[in-house]
Amino acid sequence: MLNCPKCGSPRVHRSRTRTFWERFRKNFTHDRIHRCHGCGWRGWGPVTSEPVRPKDQPDHVRPAPNLEAIDVAVSEAQVKQAKTE
Ligand SMILES: [Zn+2]
Repeated sequence: MLNCPKCGSPRVHRSRTRTFWERFRKNFTHDRIHRCHGCGWRGWGPVTSEPVRPKDQPDHVRPAPNLEAIDVAVSEAQVKQAKTE
């Protein structure tokens, strides 16, 4: 967002979210609250500058280990044991 949609002023700055729904919308869209220092307009607009973040997933988000493979290996071992006895 470069200019105020109401007065066209370039003095538009990001504004803090105030309510739960503003935070909700902020988290689920690319829109951000903006405020115009020229006319006092406040509203939503597409983000113009966003801090660059790595897109890698955090360390704690990893796929669970495959326990089924272990179960199959164990049951196969038991079958082999039963055959040899
Ligand atoms: Zn304005």
